[in-house]
Amino acid sequence: MNKVLGYQCSICGKSYALDEVEYVCPADGGNLDVVLDYDAIAKNVSVADIQASKETSMWRYLPLLPVGKPGFEYTPLHTVGWTPVYAPAPLRQATGLNQLWVKDESGNPSASFKDRASALLVVRAREVGADVIVTASTGNAGAALAGMAAATGQSATIFAPKTAPPAKIAQLLIFGARVLLVDGTYDDAFDLSVEATEAFGWYCRNTGYNPFTAEGKKTAAFEIWEQVLLAQKLDRPLCVFVSVGDGNIISGLHKGFKDLQALGWLEHMPRIFGVQSEGSAAIANAYQAGTEQIDPVSATTLADSISVDLPRDGLRALRAATQTGGAYVVVPDDEIIAAIATLGKVGVFAEPAGSTAYAGVLKALDEGLIGSDDPVLALVTGSGLKDVKAAMQAAGEAQIVAPNLDAVRKVL
Ligand SMILES: *Cc1c(COP(=O)(O)O)cnc(C)c1O
Ligand SMILES: [Zn+2]
Repeated sequence: MNKVLGYQCSICGKSYALDEVEYVCPADGGNLDVVLDYDAIAKNVSVADIQASKETSMWRYLPLLPVGKPGFEYTPLHTVGWTPVYAPAPLRQATGLNQLWVKDESGNPSASFKDRASALLVVRAREVGADVIVTASTGNAGAALAGMAAATGQSATIFAPKTAPPAKIAQLLIFGARVLLVDGTYDDAFDLSVEATEAFGWYCRNTGYNPFTAEGKKTAAFEIWEQVLLAQKLDRPLCVFVSVGDGNIISGLHKGFKDLQALGWLEHMPRIFGVQSEGSAAIANAYQAGTEQIDPVSATTLADSISVDLPRDGLRALRAATQTGGAYVVVPDDEIIAAIATLGKVGVFAEPAGSTAYAGVLKALDEGLIGSDDPVLALVTGSGLKDVKAAMQAAGEAQIVAPNLDAVRKVL
């Protein structure tokens, strides 16, 4: 079965065949949507088929993914995705929300959401016969690609800012990728990686550049659909909160829900809320101004995974909120740190960009964008082990005791 019809540009709407372009629209640089053949897919698979699947990874949605030619059903690392959804009672009480879920992505093999994109990308790279896969990254996308490439015996080159948290750099190195730490920002690393791709004929995974990353990320929307929407009877649209840097996770989620809608499998489109740090709020600024013109900022946030000057998937990220009755909210870094501590108390360990979504829920309640009857899900996109320095800021100091019971009694 051929599942893919081609690409469509998110700016000019022009259609392209899959072998006609590789990355962005040649006319205007717009991000390309992968256009699926929904009729063919619907003939091949049903909701019941998917619900009956014994596959507990993102590959349970292979029939809806743009890879896997017949006879080439290559799906590495069946440990990506199908992450847990929790309904922590203390957070419901603290927020007053009657229905609140947290979807925790930290259990992915490289401990962030990015594994979803990289798992799909290594398959795509193999299908197009690529040797070297390159990506720019603030850390997590690189770690995900490096880990996936190591597992599949493919070759990866990573450009990351030299200021990336040490744990992320350690991951890049331990997975055996070629690591180039750029003496500059993530945006510098991005531009350099694209130049290198062109100069050396590599295959580029960059977020907001390669159309296939969003296709991997959309699997989280499919999981939210199965784990929450099909499992619960919600009488209002689910409000999904997600942290936003380049804007590719949020546009991937939107794409996933749109796929389900096109197949007739989705009753209500969720409302999608993007959350940005005050110090890196290019898309939120455009949202507030009511324009689709996204101006770059000079990013300063300790949430390194969402520290972006010029979002590479900004337009689709903006529309994910405007087209679903969602919104954008911004949160200061101290609220991001506080949210790490709050999530920790219910057993979820988030890096700053991972706790940002929950900080956004609190902000949206504050601003009256959502109320206590709205069902809400916050996506925790990365593990706290990625950035121990930020975690220690949230956690405070441990007590030190002399090695005797008296000393313990004194501090109890
Ligand atoms: C990449 C990343 C994000 C943001 O994703 P974008 O596609 O850049 O918006 C959020 N959280 C974590 C942990 C990430 O690694
Ligand atoms: Zn275009």
